[in-house]
Amino acid sequence: MESTSDGMTLGLVIVWLAALAVNVLIGYWAGKVGQRNGRSFALCFCLGFFLGLIGVLVVYLIGPGYDSRPAPYGVAPPPGYGPPPDPHQQRTRVCGQCGKLVEGSARFCGYCGAQVAGPAPRR
Ligand SMILES: [Zn+2]
Repeated sequence: MESTSDGMTLGLVIVWLAALAVNVLIGYWAGKVGQRNGRSFALCFCLGFFLGLIGVLVVYLIGPGYDSRPAPYGVAPPPGYGPPPDPHQQRTRVCGQCGKLVEGSARFCGYCGAQVAGPAPRR
């Protein structure tokens, strides 16, 4: 292998840097996939970084983690995870007097002032 040409050396460095960048990208991809499955981002990043596409395949194959850790940042919690909405606060009713929509927490219509009919808790 001859290294008389500086251009050839520069080309090799560029190729090496490009390969490194591709590995970082693949590692990031594998990390995100693993993170979505509840795995460690760093672990899956290393898999993708060192093994390339095979590492991504491994991350896909190992699937979701068995331990149900809290969802990491940027991932929406599964349905039913958050607090359920309060039915008394969220429900809207129709005013029997003017037909406008009235918030469930209000006992009187905000448009015509009539008492809103509905299953409001009495106290
Ligand atoms: Zn009304």
